[in-house]
Amino acid sequence: EGADEPPALTDGIHLVVDALKLNDVETLYGVVGIPITDLARLAQASGIRYIGFRHESDAGHAAAAAGFLTQKPGICLTVSAPGFLNGLVALANATTNCFPMVQISGSSEQHLVDLQRGDYEEMDQLAAARPFVKAAYRVHRAEDIGRGIARAIRTAVSGRPGGVYLDIPAAVLGEVIDAEQGAESLWRLVDPAPRQVPQAEAVDRAIDLLAGAERPLVVLGKGAAYSQADEQIREFVETTGIPYLPMSMAKGLLPDDHPQSASTARSLALRRADVVMLVGARLNWLLGHGEAPQWNPQATFIQVDIAATEMDSNQPIAAPLVGDVASVMEALAERSKPGRINAPAAWREELAERSAQNVAKMAGRLKAAETAQPMKFLGALQAIRDVLHENPRAYVVNEGANALDLARNTIGMQVPRHRLDSGTWGVMGIGMGYAIAAAVETGDPVVAIEGDSAFGFSGMEIEAICRYDLPIVTVVLNNSGVYRGDDPSASDDPAPTALKARHDLMIQAFGGKGYQATTPAEVATALREALASGRPALIDCVIDPTDGTESGNIAHLNPKGITVQR
Ligand code: ADP
Repeated sequence: EGADEPPALTDGIHLVVDALKLNDVETLYGVVGIPITDLARLAQASGIRYIGFRHESDAGHAAAAAGFLTQKPGICLTVSAPGFLNGLVALANATTNCFPMVQISGSSEQHLVDLQRGDYEEMDQLAAARPFVKAAYRVHRAEDIGRGIARAIRTAVSGRPGGVYLDIPAAVLGEVIDAEQGAESLWRLVDPAPRQVPQAEAVDRAIDLLAGAERPLVVLGKGAAYSQADEQIREFVETTGIPYLPMSMAKGLLPDDHPQSASTARSLALRRADVVMLVGARLNWLLGHGEAPQWNPQATFIQVDIAATEMDSNQPIAAPLVGDVASVMEALAERSKPGRINAPAAWREELAERSAQNVAKMAGRLKAAETAQPMKFLGALQAIRDVLHENPRAYVVNEGANALDLARNTIGMQVPRHRLDSGTWGVMGIGMGYAIAAAVETGDPVVAIEGDSAFGFSGMEIEAICRYDLPIVTVVLNNSGVYRGDDPSASDDPAPTALKARHDLMIQAFGGKGYQATTPAEVATALREALASGRPALIDCVIDPTDGTESGNIAHLNPKGITVQR
């Protein structure tokens, strides 16, 4: 630099990109518009991959899934007010699921917003975000951008992971400062998610309970999957012989056909277990809050969780093990002498017997579905199961009501973290976002198994899938309705639950391959061909409109008042 040359300058947009790069952010998921379009352009030009969506919820869900898969916060970029609110749905869902994610949103002029003078896309986004997220921060000066991004990443990924909102007003993105001062304001995080080691006494307390158990049970949740402690978990389960139940996103931590899996004797396992160790799984509605009669009222609970406040949220926790799953499992292995914990053979046999009975009962239903016409959910799903078996690296995304319940039980997982689904809220709309993230983050093929209703929430993203030419096959289980397609209507309009679409024709508009399948054999042929091509495809499976039940497995959650005419 010559003495008379003006000092080099930078601005807020450059500082955001520099701070993200400094912290190894490789991908942004977003929807552009005022005031973040140039931010996306600059990120792309600087070597960060930018994946552009058609709706911010989908971009957000993609960022959340990326966080779950990589243990690095997925970053979602949104515009002010409506774009921000659309993204907030995903950020709240990520927080609920304990996935690390940061939503960075542009916002309008603070001096106008705060006096409610009616600015373009006026909204107090910081206040709006706060109730739904782990933390919400706003940057007011370009020199604080590095601090804001460091703080957002640290908060999202450390302790119990969750969603963080980072508000960067348009004026800050455009603020020009001295380049050297700007560079000095950025930093790289050291150890963003430190290990959390449990106390020795707490570990011994849990070991004593497990050693004395007659009918011990391990429940693996998506926190266990997230922690990537696959070896430690397998080692613990196999050396102790304790039967285990995987929650849906923990399927594949151990292969689903593992002899210690109690999945096919689930009700019995919950009703009879006397000592239960929860590993990265909450005793929430998905586990009936740990209450009788679903659970043994005398059951004693051990809970492994990184969040101390999760303990005692539903049942007394006799042995809280606060720490990260990997550290806790290692401590359990270190502090229990070989053979100290040993699941009694009688209990294992009891479960195995019930499993065999249940599998035999199910076999008849599966067999009947193989040839049923019109095709049943279970007909299509068995075909998908067989093709997936030939493609163990494929990620499975799954949402719907019946499409979720039946696919979860029919399709076994062989590999950890390869199943992404509706999660803690039992939400619809995650499908295409999760599928895109799985493909982008791993490069592996993805099969999204979608109810026709669930698919509709994010269906437009098949355009993004085609635009980026991602190896995603979307399989729509189309029974022409929400829950079922045969509800009578009480007026001249279609029934509230009715739907009608040829989804296979949609993808053709974007250059993808569409299939319609009316038999399990057609489903299998189409899925095989689509996976072999490695390119975007959609298989619309014509399912019997009378197949399916109201709300799937969770019909009991519908309020019961005076019977509604149907
Ligand atoms: P599922 O729905 O599969 O039962 P949940 O989402 O209810 O699982 O539970 C996940 C739990 O895992 C949360 O309570 C969360 O705090 C915890 N968790 C997340 N990451 C870790 C980790 N690395 N170590 C320990 N616990 C974790």
